[in-house]
Amino acid sequence: MAVSFGLSAEQADIKALARDFADREVAPHAAEWDRAEAVDRAVVKKLGAVGFLGLTIDEEYGGSGGDHLAYCLVTEELGRADSSVRGIVSVSLGLVAKSVAHWGTEEQKRAWLPRLTSGEAIGCFGLTEPGTGSDAANLTTRAVRDGDAYVITGGKTFITNGTWADVVLLFARTGSAQDGHRGVSAFLVPADTPGLTRRAIHGKLGLRGQATAELVLDGVRVPADAMLGPAGKGFSVAMSALAKGRMSVAAGCVGIAQACLDAAVGYAGQREQFGVPIAGHQLVQELLADIAVDVATARLLTWQVADLIDRGLPFATESSVAKLHASEAAVRCANNALQVFGGYGYIDEYPVGKLLRDARVMTLYEGTSQIHKLLIGRSLTGVSAF
Ligand code: FAD
Repeated sequence: MAVSFGLSAEQADIKALARDFADREVAPHAAEWDRAEAVDRAVVKKLGAVGFLGLTIDEEYGGSGGDHLAYCLVTEELGRADSSVRGIVSVSLGLVAKSVAHWGTEEQKRAWLPRLTSGEAIGCFGLTEPGTGSDAANLTTRAVRDGDAYVITGGKTFITNGTWADVVLLFARTGSAQDGHRGVSAFLVPADTPGLTRRAIHGKLGLRGQATAELVLDGVRVPADAMLGPAGKGFSVAMSALAKGRMSVAAGCVGIAQACLDAAVGYAGQREQFGVPIAGHQLVQELLADIAVDVATARLLTWQVADLIDRGLPFATESSVAKLHASEAAVRCANNALQVFGGYGYIDEYPVGKLLRDARVMTLYEGTSQIHKLLIGRSLTGVSAF
């Protein structure tokens, strides 16, 4: 049995802290940030101050320690309150700081981790390009060696935290026959480097509070020691980040699903039709029961991944299973919750419309549902169907 069903006292404390933080600092503003298409950036410093941007990172580098289950608990509580805020953490900590902690040199760790974990700096993850989404390994942004530097040219799109970020974990093609390697390499590019321009992407269906951007790199010059991890191994850097990142997306989906359950049960108890609360109608109970089953299964699969990581065991396929199930479950839960609300679910005075819009992207990013099915299928059969 891979999952421990109980929380340690420390994990229970972190969950309570996260719930309190989410209820005070996030949930009351979520609808307003959604309408304004901008989370208040001050929340990032608050997330840093309470230690949520340093989870799993060594205290030596400004981190707050804790295990991956604690990270999931915090991610779930933030996702319950607002997926835009949850995503800021999943990217800046989950994809960027954790990659620096795993692959970085001592200098890179000292330069970036204290700033990222405190919320003084924000990170973004630049993998997707206009022409390469699911087929990320075929990216075309190129970094050419020039003396002690690399000069990077290309473009990225859909980059979460893009216009806010102080550092871009950027993936570019490197190498030639003379260099002795060919492949993709990862770079830590300060966002104010000349030649890097950013354009906000507006009009998203959900996650509207997040600063999503397009990045254009026109002769961006970075020192050679900005490379993160070995030359030509950047795709391994990206995939190792995303394997754990998918756990955090899954945990965020559990948060959405839990918010759907809370809202739907609450509304069903108050709304009366045919002379009784709608909670008393069997078909409404079916909707509630379906949501509850999705919440429980998504949570257990997500905790299983955290448990495997914390025990140093392989987790990549389990991470795909959890992300695939939790993201599809979050969409189903939001849709079922909206059904419980009837017409009121369709207007933004009530929370379930936003939950549905925010849930929808979860089946698209960090691997679409189709891509996760192919990853699971490859693991089952040994045959790649990509
Ligand atoms: P495509 O790859 O073009 O896919 C289109 C459709 O084809 C999908 O249904 C897909 O499943 C299907 N498909 C593709 N290939 C196959 C196949 N082999 N077999 C079966 N079906 C297939 N990227 C980053 O790098 N950093 C970020 O921070 C980031 N944040 C994002 C935030 C948002 C709000 C969004 C919408 C996206 C973000 N992304 C980010 C990009 C995201 O990861 C990509 O959108 C995703 O990988 C899918 O790529 P695509 O949109 O180009 O779709």
